[in-house]
Amino acid sequence: MMETKSIKKSLFLIFFLIIFFSSCSSPSQSGSKEAPPAEPESQSQLMLGTSCRITLYDGITQSAFDKAFAAIATVEEHMSVNIPESEVSQINTKAGTGQAHSVSQQTFEVVQEALHIAALSDGAFDPTIGPLVSLWGIGSDDPKIPTEQQIAETLPLIDYQQVEIQESQTSISLPRSQMKLDLGGIAKGYAADEVRTKLAEEGVTSALINLGGNVLTMGTKPDGSLWKIGIQDPASERGDHVIILELEDMSVVTSGPYERYFTGPDGKRYHHILDPEDGYPVRRDITSATIVTASSFLADALSTAIYVMGMESGARLVETLEGVEALFIDADSTIYVTSGLEDQTIPNRLSNDSYSLTPVPEKAN
Ligand code: ADP
Ligand code: MG
Repeated sequence: MMETKSIKKSLFLIFFLIIFFSSCSSPSQSGSKEAPPAEPESQSQLMLGTSCRITLYDGITQSAFDKAFAAIATVEEHMSVNIPESEVSQINTKAGTGQAHSVSQQTFEVVQEALHIAALSDGAFDPTIGPLVSLWGIGSDDPKIPTEQQIAETLPLIDYQQVEIQESQTSISLPRSQMKLDLGGIAKGYAADEVRTKLAEEGVTSALINLGGNVLTMGTKPDGSLWKIGIQDPASERGDHVIILELEDMSVVTSGPYERYFTGPDGKRYHHILDPEDGYPVRRDITSATIVTASSFLADALSTAIYVMGMESGARLVETLEGVEALFIDADSTIYVTSGLEDQTIPNRLSNDSYSLTPVPEKAN
């Protein structure tokens, strides 16, 4: 059920982006003699549990699409916990046996970065969240609310500091049985960066990569203008945006409780971003957290991290990182931003001109 909802969301987002982009790029009516740039072409595939859409604006060849989707397929084969033979599944199967599992350079790199973000966020982002994800049935057909006792029993398994990595052998091990890695909060971002690399090798300089809302823009549009990426209004089911960011060569990734959730028998919504501290879906006043930065890999992990950390702590972390900006939306649709968005280092606007950006308040302590 959550899977369906997530796919619906993704398709809806893509639909919205298509409408949005087609309405933004009105064809030139002038009598210019220059040949118009080729029409962009999109292809989509269901991968990584979501709809992955790639739109090429130049260098359009089937080979470029094929190599891009193959790169996503490789990430999925290596890192999906839903594929029993994946490298991550094998690390998990060997948990507590004392055996390390030797993995590809790619999986090693993603686990290392996940551990790095875990340390930066003081464990708010934790790639050992797997046992809790399973307990809640996040992403399965049968999500359920665990008992307090089940949560209490599971929490000691969530601890990124216990992951053992051996760089020389690119091997990874989990010391306790039942521990499980889950790279769901970071793998899409890594895959998006991989797609960019493959497309660049194929001569593409202008493209839009959208892996289930994890957006990465390549270059500018062929006419040199910036990409316009709308940030979803979490309060609206209609794909309304609260703000449009104008970007080149940037990734925009949003984490929020509205992206994947189920409704419990108690009528409450339970979403998929879990707090490693207490084992429950994160409860925050903010309704979404967005990261804008060049690397989608970083943007994906950090957007999950700062949603868990909350606005003030999340923004404080982001302000220490060069070239990284964050945007938070609260229940009143107020848009809070870090300094680079406020001072327009990253251009932004709303289509109706009637917006205001509020700097993230400093924490009182
Ligand atoms: P989405 O998958 O909707 O793009 P995120 O990037 O925020 O959203 O990732 C959410 C996924 O990350 C969850 O489905 C789960 O697999 C995993 N996850 C949940 N909570 C955490 C956490 N605290 N730290 C790291 N990963 C998490
Ligand atoms: Mg993420």
